[in-house]
Amino acid sequence: MAKVLCVLYDDPTDGYPTACARDDLPRIDSYPDGQSAPTPRGTDFTPGHLLGSVSGELGLRAFLESRGHTLVVTSDKDGADSVFGRELADADVVVSQPFWPAYLTAERLAAAKNLKLAVTAGIGSDHVDLDAAIAHGVTVAEVTYCNSISVAEHVVMMTLSLVRDYLPAHRVAREGGWHIADCVARSYDLEGMHVGTVAAGRIGIAVLRRLAPFDVTLHYTDRHRLPAALEEELGLVFHESAADMVPHCDVVTVNAPLHPETEHLFDADLLATMKRGAYLINTARARIVDQDAVRHALESGRLAGYAGDVWYPQPAPPDHPWRTMPHHGMTPHISGSSLSAQARYAAGTREILECWLDGTPIRDAYLIVSGGALAGTGAHSYAVQTRS
Ligand code: NDP
Repeated sequence: MAKVLCVLYDDPTDGYPTACARDDLPRIDSYPDGQSAPTPRGTDFTPGHLLGSVSGELGLRAFLESRGHTLVVTSDKDGADSVFGRELADADVVVSQPFWPAYLTAERLAAAKNLKLAVTAGIGSDHVDLDAAIAHGVTVAEVTYCNSISVAEHVVMMTLSLVRDYLPAHRVAREGGWHIADCVARSYDLEGMHVGTVAAGRIGIAVLRRLAPFDVTLHYTDRHRLPAALEEELGLVFHESAADMVPHCDVVTVNAPLHPETEHLFDADLLATMKRGAYLINTARARIVDQDAVRHALESGRLAGYAGDVWYPQPAPPDHPWRTMPHHGMTPHISGSSLSAQARYAAGTREILECWLDGTPIRDAYLIVSGGALAGTGAHSYAVQTRS
């Protein structure tokens, strides 16, 4: 029998909700590339309910316990004395979400003698030391595509929010004011701007598609070039590297995984090549940018705005410098954890666990590490230290 250790974010501060804001969710059976949405053999939750917090348990308890497995759910994840630190010692499976990541460091992986599977209930498995997972024969899987569109929508929202300077104007409205000049002194139209994405994978392409109707010029850089037909359809300008692309852009959005090639890609040198007054939106991973360089770029005016939902570490401490830097539109890490996304990644986590417990193959698209090597989506989109 397996012990599944699941790390989820805390319930709402005013308690687990007793009612939902909406009665239903749109039904999504497949993603834009044709891949089907998760297909577990069953689910024990209601789509639209809060599943990603501790009481939601990703809807896994009845399924696991009916088969005789043990499910431990906690939000207490940091430090050796945390519930996660203690329970990891004999866990067979860890399930964690990027929004509240249980960092599986090399030390923790070495100590977790029973661990065979690390599931990311979401996308982005950089909270797992992939080199160490490979060394210890731990399979790493994530629910590929489950929240890519959720993030793309967040990127579009943040792009418009920064360029039009929405948040300060909203604050004026809430606080009873009506000073138009204060609201518009930094407000522009997106129309006609040059917008570039670093990476054109599932999220990057979805962002490009959603921004195309705004009559902007779209740019991208990626390790693999997109099909010519798609480039033509969206009028995309391809660049060999981020360094080639960013000087041309008014808005840059980062949609690459965090791995050795992308870590601190946006350092002070790269930021200095951006147009004065450019906007940077990063919903990928915080460590793709240099934290202090971003703050300095906002203070100097090199960047007119920075937004995203990814921080390091997570949760960000109350005195994290990004909380108080000028012209930012940060949220906590939420873009991929809408109630819509939760239903998909809960179902996808169940699908992965069903496969693993039954000894049937996990979808190739869900695999990051398997059999002691990068596999599936991991082999396509990630690199590890040993290969770089
Ligand atoms: P995909 O795997 O579909 O796309 C990732 C893309 O990044 C691929 O096209 C890949 O290129 C490209 N890439 C990798 N390395 C580089 C590089 N060095 N330079 C340029 N491009 C590179 O993933 P998604 O689009 O679904 O997600 C992307 C990332 O977004 C995730 O890894 C995660 O970190 C983050 N994310 C954040 C969420 C949030 O809630 N904020 C939720 C979901 C994801 P190729 O494959 O062509 O080699």
